[in-house]
Amino acid sequence: MAEQKLPTRAEDFNEWYNQLVLKAELADYAPVRGCMIVRPYGWALWENIQQALDRRFKATGHVNAAFPLLIPRSFIDKEKSHVAGFSPELAVVTHGGGEELEEPLVIRPTSETIIGHAYAKWIQSYRDLPVLINQWNSVVRWELRTKLFLRTLEFFWQEGHTAHATFEEAEFETRQMLDIYTDFAVNDAAVPVIPGRKSASERFAGADQTYSIEAMMGDGKALQAGTSHNLGQNFAKAFEIRYLDQGGVLQYCWTTSWGLSTRFIGAIIMVHGDDQGLVLPPKLAPYQVVLVPIWKTDAERAITMEAAAKIRTPLVEAGLRVKTDEREGVSPGFKFNDWEMRGVPLRIEIGPRDVAQGSVVMARRDKPGREGKSPAPQAGIVAAVTEALATIQKSMHDKALAFREAHTLEPRNFEEFKAAVETGFARAFWCGDAKCEEEIKESTKATMRCIPLDDPGGAGTCVFCGKSARDRGVFGRAY
Ligand SMILES: [Zn+2]
Repeated sequence: MAEQKLPTRAEDFNEWYNQLVLKAELADYAPVRGCMIVRPYGWALWENIQQALDRRFKATGHVNAAFPLLIPRSFIDKEKSHVAGFSPELAVVTHGGGEELEEPLVIRPTSETIIGHAYAKWIQSYRDLPVLINQWNSVVRWELRTKLFLRTLEFFWQEGHTAHATFEEAEFETRQMLDIYTDFAVNDAAVPVIPGRKSASERFAGADQTYSIEAMMGDGKALQAGTSHNLGQNFAKAFEIRYLDQGGVLQYCWTTSWGLSTRFIGAIIMVHGDDQGLVLPPKLAPYQVVLVPIWKTDAERAITMEAAAKIRTPLVEAGLRVKTDEREGVSPGFKFNDWEMRGVPLRIEIGPRDVAQGSVVMARRDKPGREGKSPAPQAGIVAAVTEALATIQKSMHDKALAFREAHTLEPRNFEEFKAAVETGFARAFWCGDAKCEEEIKESTKATMRCIPLDDPGGAGTCVFCGKSARDRGVFGRAY
């Protein structure tokens, strides 16, 4: 049972990621280049992400629906910047049932157009507003440079689409959903994020304003982990989404869209993972606790298995996700490594001596080695485990935040800026000029990730061109 070790993150972060995704059985490559197969362990993680988000969507009045996979090609052409943004990545169906189609169909790259078409039919009056719909699905954007979860031709996500009577309501919705993504990232995924506004060049194709949450990965690079768009009246005008206001005047609606995808799994891997493998946040982990009975003889096997079953029952009844490793023919050490690779937050070791003493040994995944081990009584195991999981959840977030802060600099000039984005983020004044942004990107490979919402800005000078600047942006090299 020789185990191949991962490359360390310091050696080769990319290869560490690629091998980890395969070894932890999160996902696999598909026969069609660019596609991915999400394996059960990866899908269980996604399901927990889905539930954490869906709960928040519903608490704020949203409902789920399902719109078609196929969209008439002409729909994409209706909104000018949308078509410009998405045309290069469209997958187009030209034949069906053995015949050439009169009008080609595109496989949805996102659903603004087909949902806009439906909203135009459904919305007549101010009484029909707001419409707050979300859908869980997959979309296709042609992409050949595969990186599982981060860059795939087909990916899974949710896309929310809402219609409102006023600009203010649409803006409120856009910001509310950004807040929901932030809350989910910080409190459930233990991923600290910077919520902020995108520059014009990084906006969604067809949006007036795009907001995003940006996270720092373990190699100092940025990952856009969720976006929320105020679409203004652009799609309402393209699809004739109109309503009669209280005065009987026909008005265009204001629409929004927002999405978070399986990319977020990539963020969880790269923010928390270590050289031993995944480290999963307790709130989202498919298994929060793994029980490993340790035995040498058959008699010991019976005793420790029985103890494991006794511990498992109250944990499961308390709503915890628990796995007992009953495998024969592999050593406890192998099992420990295996579950460490898969990132299970808490391991409980139960040997014959522990059974005799009425105790167990708990081992925290986020603190490998002796430091993370502590004894716990079998009676009152639920309280001990619940407390340990809460501690792990918090300490994972704090560690990730401390890492981001240690790798975020405020450069005083462009030389310092260039050095800062080699290892992390640079917070710097920027003039807002697209050409300047492009030149920064060309010379440093760093992009303006967002203008943080909590940064008041002020009177400064652009870190690149020296012109006067009001906003301070976060810059970094991005996935
Ligand atoms: Zn500038």
